[in-house]
Order: sequence, then structure tokens, then C-alpha cells
Amino acid sequence: MIAIRRALADATLYPFWLDNKLAPGSEMHLVGPTDADLAIVGGGFTGLWAAILAKQENPGRDVVIIEAGKVGHGASGRPGGIVSTSVMHGLYNANRIFPNDLAALERLGKANLDGWQKTIDEHGIDADLEWTGEMTVAVAKSHLQELQDEYELAKRHGHNVVLLDREQAQAELASPIFEGAMWSRERSGIVHPAKLAWGLKRVALSLGVRIYEHTPMTGVEDNGSTLTIITHDGRVKAPKVLFATNAWNAGHKKIKSRIVAVRDRVIATEPLTEEQLARLGWKNRQGVYDTRTQLNYTRLTSDNRIIFGGRVGYFFNNNTDPAQDRQIETYERLAGYFFNTFPQLHDVKFTHAWSGPIDLTMRLAVHFQRYYGGKGIYAGGYSGFGVTTTRFGANIGLDILDGKTGPDLDLDFARTLPNWIPPEPFRWIGAKLTMYALDEVDQKGGWRKLWINMVHRMGFPL
Ligand SMILES: Cc1cc2nc3c(=O)[nH]c(=O)nc-3n(C[C@H](O)[C@H](O)[C@H](O)COP(=O)(O)OP(=O)(O)OC[C@H]3O[C@@H](n4cnc5c(N)ncnc54)[C@H](O)[C@@H]3O)c2cc1C
Repeated sequence: MIAIRRALADATLYPFWLDNKLAPGSEMHLVGPTDADLAIVGGGFTGLWAAILAKQENPGRDVVIIEAGKVGHGASGRPGGIVSTSVMHGLYNANRIFPNDLAALERLGKANLDGWQKTIDEHGIDADLEWTGEMTVAVAKSHLQELQDEYELAKRHGHNVVLLDREQAQAELASPIFEGAMWSRERSGIVHPAKLAWGLKRVALSLGVRIYEHTPMTGVEDNGSTLTIITHDGRVKAPKVLFATNAWNAGHKKIKSRIVAVRDRVIATEPLTEEQLARLGWKNRQGVYDTRTQLNYTRLTSDNRIIFGGRVGYFFNNNTDPAQDRQIETYERLAGYFFNTFPQLHDVKFTHAWSGPIDLTMRLAVHFQRYYGGKGIYAGGYSGFGVTTTRFGANIGLDILDGKTGPDLDLDFARTLPNWIPPEPFRWIGAKLTMYALDEVDQKGGWRKLWINMVHRMGFPL
């Protein structure tokens, strides 16, 4: 424990991604009334993509974004930044929730990623994007069957995947706890998420989108043919509103009936030396997920730091405020997992530690809630898998808002809602028990395993 505390001692409790001199200045906050064709609440990836897509389709459309803080300061400036093609939290999850629509979801995922990359390339967004693939590592021999199943599914759907035994996995990334791995080698990788959000903000502004920062929505009025978004010093009247507020319960109180807002923790190391890097291998620089029940993920940055994340916490009434995670003790357990995973990096220090909000649903994937007679749509619920899927969520959300029809919009993912989640205090009690069980199930089993199995049967795929 002393070694962990020493490694964390000088860490800044702020996201590494946002702690960057390239961060743009703030836009003005909204003062007075204004009208728009489309109002978007929330300036993360979902809101930014919605604005860009709306303008790309119809440059004459007047689009306004209001953002409570600064663009990219929500989840979008805080993730691991692992890039994936799937729009349903991975092929395995897509098969779990919508097995009959798998082919369509695969097609939509590929089209989404192509569009994502095209905008980045066309507008010269420098977001340190590396197409290194994503790798799932098994941290116990008993998890190898799970990898085998995923591998076979991915193969059947034409993915460029390889299954690695213990020795091969170690050659890709050395850790005494890795028993094997599945490496999906194409159409996935790593990105600097804040640079991406700032690049998308620049694109949106260049297309004529009006962005108001430091402008939280405080209420909504339904005026019949329009909605009015109320803020502290202004109002936006629009016939169509997209609520892109992720884990925040803004927009409508019912949003939280389908979403549990959890906070996930991340730590970043100092840049590794060449010698420290050599202790790891990792020359192919994949984004990595492990198979722990309380999942960890890790990746390198362009200056060879390690980003290591994955210890979720739930706070009463879906409290999403990352300011609550500004005590260094919050990160000690995560740092412990880091050294357990990479004991050869015993001399590495952490420079940053932070948390971010995750909009967890039983589906583990985006859904769309219709409000105010269809004039308002909430698009969210990515459940920690939204770096590319947010473009898809924005796209489908806009299509629904614009009353479009077509075979894709008839699929279940667009029409149906994830299961209902009980309100407080049952939510808090259930979440606390689950978090406690998750933390210890891999080592201790017992009642924890029974509880996790029960939650799993209720619909949360833990
Ligand atoms: C720690 C962590 C790790 C993750 N790792 C990965 C990963 O490796 N790969 C991956 O694919 N995904 C990952 N994700 C998920 C991904 O980051 C999110 O799914 C994605 O950023 C969500 O974007 P968003 O625009 O929907 O939400 P956000 O970026 O959170 O944006 C919502 C915005 O709404 C604003 N807002 C809220 N309420 C109001 C209001 N009343 N008025 C105005 N504005 C409001 C907020 O300020 C915020 O900026 C991770 C998430 C976290 C937190």
C-alpha cells in the first residue's frame, strides 16, 4: 500500500486528456432569447456529431448547442479512448441483445466508423488516431472459453481476429496474469478523445453551428409546435431538440428510469522510458480490455504514458459529479490493479487520476427516448462504449427527430427501450451490493458470485 500511495502522491486529480495547452477557450454563454431549427443540449461527442451531421445534410439549418460546462468536459474528455466498430458495445453484446439484427448492426457499425474517419480526415482533425486494433486479454484460465466463443463469433462475421495463447499474448503485452488474448486487428485502435472533441467543435463552428458554453439547461417548456429550453440567462426556442446529456438526468425525469449513472475511474502514468516500454513489449500498441468481472482497460498515449481505467462507483441519486472523486484514496485500488497487472513497472509514477460519468443501461448500448410528442429525443446509454458509437447515436437520434422512416429505423434497437431500472433507494442498495460483490468476486466467490449471477439474470450482463 505504501508503494501505491507513493506512486500516486504527485498525481493531478484532473483528466490527462483535458490537461493540455491545445484546449480551446470558452464560447460565450447564452444571454437572452434565441430561435433555432434544431437545439442540442450537451456538447460531448453525441451533441457535436448531431450538429455536424445536421449541417452536413442541410447547411441552411440553424443549429444551436448549449453546454453546461465546456465542450468535451463530460465523458467525452475522460475515456480510455479505445476505438471500436461496433455500435452495440461489441459483437458479443449485440448478439446478446439483438441476435436477429446482427448483420444489419454490423453493416451500420462499419458505415458509422467510415463516416467517423471521413470527417476526421476531411477536416484534418489531429487526434493522435492509431489503427492498432483492440485486444481482449483473459486474466484467468477459466476465461479462455469466453474468448474462444467471441473469436468464433467474430470470425463468422468476417472480422480480422487472431486468438493468442499465453505465450503469444505475453509477446504482445507482458503481464503475469494474461492467460491468452483475442486481437481484433482492423477497424479499431486508440484516439486522444479530448483532441477529437476539440476538433469536432472546430468543425461544428466552421459549419455555422452556434455553441453556447457554461449554459446549463434548467427547464423545458412545451409550447405546442416548439419547445423552449430555459437557461439561467436565456432561452432557445426550437421545433426539435436533441438531449445529448449522457448520464445526466437533464431533459426529462424519466430518462433515469432506464439509466444508472455510474462514475468510472482512470489513472495515467508518466511517459515511460524506452527501457520501461521494453519490459512490456506492446510494440503493436493495441487498446486492451481484460476479462475481469470488474473490467479494466488500458492503452498507450502518443507520448507513451499508460492510461489504465475501470473501477466504477455508484453514488446516491445518480450523482455524476466528478468533483466527488477528488480524493487520491479513490484511486488506490485501481493503482493496485495496475501493479498487479504490470508488476515489472514497479518504478512508474502516476501523473493524473480522474473519473467520468457512464450512462449504464441493461442493454449496454445506445437507445432513444421520445418526449414532448416527438419534438424531443434523448440519445444515450452507451454504457462506457461511445467514442465512435456517439456518431451513430446522433445520426439515428436526428433521423427519429426528423420523422424519417426506413428499414433501419424499424429495427428493435431504434424502436425499443432497455429494461426499466428501479428508483432510489432500491437502486442505491442494489448498486452498492453489486459494486462490493464485483470488487471481490474474482478472488473470493461465495455469495458475491450468487449475487452477480442474479443481477446478470435480471438483465445486467456483468
Ligand atoms: C472513464 C470512462 C472511460 C471510457 N472509455 C471508453 C473507451 O475506451 N471507448 C469507448 O468507446 N467509450 C468509452 N467511454 C464512453 C464514452 O466516453 C462516452 O460514451 C461518450 O463520450 C459519451 O458522449 P456524450 O456526448 O453522449 O456524453 P458527454 O461527453 O458526457 O456529454 C454530455 C454533455 O452534456 C452536458 N450536460 C449535462 N446536463 C446538461 C444540462 N442540463 N444543460 C446543458 N448541458 C448539459 C454535460 O456537461 C456534457 O458535456 C468511457 C467513458 C468514461 C467515463
